[in-house]
Amino acid sequence: MPDTTQPPAAKDPNSQHWLTIALLLFGFYYLMQVFVSKPAQVISYSEFLQQVNNAAIAEVVLKGNEIHGRYRKSDANANFDFRVIAPNFENARLLDILEANDVNIKVQADELPFWARMIAGFLPWLLILAFFFWTSRALQSRMGASGGGLMGFSSSRARRFEPTTSGPRYEDIAGLESAKQDFQEIIDYLKNPQKYRDMGAHMPKGILMMGAPGTGKTLLAKATANEAEVPFFSVSGSEFIEMFVGVGASRVRDMFNQARKVAPALIFIDEIDSVGRVRGTGLGGGNDEREQTLNQILAEMDGFDPEEAVVVLAATNRPDVLDPALMRPGRFDRKITLELPQRKARAEILQVHSRHTPLAEDVQLDQIAAVTPGFSGADLANLVNEAALNATRDNRTSIRQEDFLSARDKVIMGTPRTDLLNPSERKRIACHEAGHAITAYFSSHSDPVQKISIVPRGQALGMTEQLPEEDRHNLNEDYLLDRLSVLLGGRCAEKLVFGNVSTGAADDLKQATRLGYKMVGQWGMGKNIGPIGYSIAEEHPFLGRELAEPKEFSEQTAHLLDEEVRLLLREAEQKTIRLLSEHSQHLQSLLQALLEKETLQHDEIVALLGH
Ligand code: ADP
Ligand code: ZN
Repeated sequence: MPDTTQPPAAKDPNSQHWLTIALLLFGFYYLMQVFVSKPAQVISYSEFLQQVNNAAIAEVVLKGNEIHGRYRKSDANANFDFRVIAPNFENARLLDILEANDVNIKVQADELPFWARMIAGFLPWLLILAFFFWTSRALQSRMGASGGGLMGFSSSRARRFEPTTSGPRYEDIAGLESAKQDFQEIIDYLKNPQKYRDMGAHMPKGILMMGAPGTGKTLLAKATANEAEVPFFSVSGSEFIEMFVGVGASRVRDMFNQARKVAPALIFIDEIDSVGRVRGTGLGGGNDEREQTLNQILAEMDGFDPEEAVVVLAATNRPDVLDPALMRPGRFDRKITLELPQRKARAEILQVHSRHTPLAEDVQLDQIAAVTPGFSGADLANLVNEAALNATRDNRTSIRQEDFLSARDKVIMGTPRTDLLNPSERKRIACHEAGHAITAYFSSHSDPVQKISIVPRGQALGMTEQLPEEDRHNLNEDYLLDRLSVLLGGRCAEKLVFGNVSTGAADDLKQATRLGYKMVGQWGMGKNIGPIGYSIAEEHPFLGRELAEPKEFSEQTAHLLDEEVRLLLREAEQKTIRLLSEHSQHLQSLLQALLEKETLQHDEIVALLGH
């Protein structure tokens, strides 16, 4: 996600006005106090007593031990008031004296002046208010809300992008031809909605893009907005969900309103599955927020005026969990699946991403595409970057083929580990890998061996890599049986050479067993059980993870399945042992070569094993 420019949260002008007005009022009041009252003379207590005894004083105001007083009009000092501080212990005597001299006595409670009382009364409230303002501001800015009311929670957090000439265009997207084709009409509509209105044609309001992570869903949405030259609102489904119920719904409302204002526009909701899961499945209140948000999205889409050219694109890699209500006509009724790129598309993606990187003469992007099956667009972009890093680390000015290949190994298997294995462990690993390789090499339906290595990387102590000549879409039984043998090849070779097996084959066995269950239970390849197909060990189409499906068969069938799989694996093991015994010479020489060289490439393997 590129950085987005947010309008700075506008300073609330009201609060500043209030402050200024309050200060002015206080200032004015203070000045009044100073100018309206007569100037007061400070005199000493003795002088005061004397003046009282002289009968010059008309009136005194007692305020604690401070005395304010006025002279009689006839006195020479009549223009002035005076102020005196009396000693505390003098009070009783003073009153007598004042009375005796006929002075008018007023007593004032010892109070703060009016303005001080005002401050004392209001200050706590002011502080509380200020705190309130401050926290709401802080919340707003933390949540990236763009201004808005006192509590900016409810304003949409969608990032808005104006159409740019520098942003991604369709030419920056390799492969995905059919998806681009599908979007062509949408682009045309957004560019010229009137044309479609005149024809009375309705455009789809929502399009759902499904695909594995990194297949270019976001990229495609952005490029579509740029091609159509319309504003683009991007938000992730999870951003709607906050801790307060109802916030998500009002954010949705806000986002759609914003988009309507600038229509034609494109809204992109990433990870729609985080709000669009099947409703009413969870217990308790935790789902209320999500449901309300989803309902709001649906309501907004239903409420689109056909006059408003706003198209909503949503992306997900979990179409299986989406609420069917999302897919009803008038909502996300168009679906576009983005597949992982095939070899040709991979080469094109590499091409796109290495446009601005200096490539050495020997680089063959097509070759790299061939050795990266299963890589997504994002993986390939990352690969180019890793390769560039490799070249930079070696202070070279161009990227070589080997940079790409070692970057690929790093991406797939992790960085090589530097800890040394002891010689007997090393020999066992060499034997194990040679076993996989020999089985693959001499099985007629197996993928060619690309590379063998006993350099430990990540979790793996060694690896044997096979690559299909072409991307495979349909697997036949012969191929699968050979695949089972190859998986068991490492373990069988250990058995032959050392007479026993080790824990190193655990992962191979797991894979072989899974494959066995699929062959028997899913693809009907079991000899005795016959053509049956259950969703056993089925993987999520975009996540590659196994789904937890309820079992759809009886205990008895389960038992039969187990039996069949066991048989299948045992037969595969026997076949592999036979094959490895026939090629024990090859096994030995490959083992030695591996101990010497650690890594063998395809050509070296062919040279060693003949054929
Ligand atoms: P998704 O949203 O599907 O998870 P993105 O659109 O975020 O994937 O893709 C991530 C990055 O992968 C893109 O920014 C782009 O660099 C790269 N990429 C993915 N697919 C392609 C493609 N078909 N062509 C070129 N680059 C791609
Ligand atoms: Zn193995």
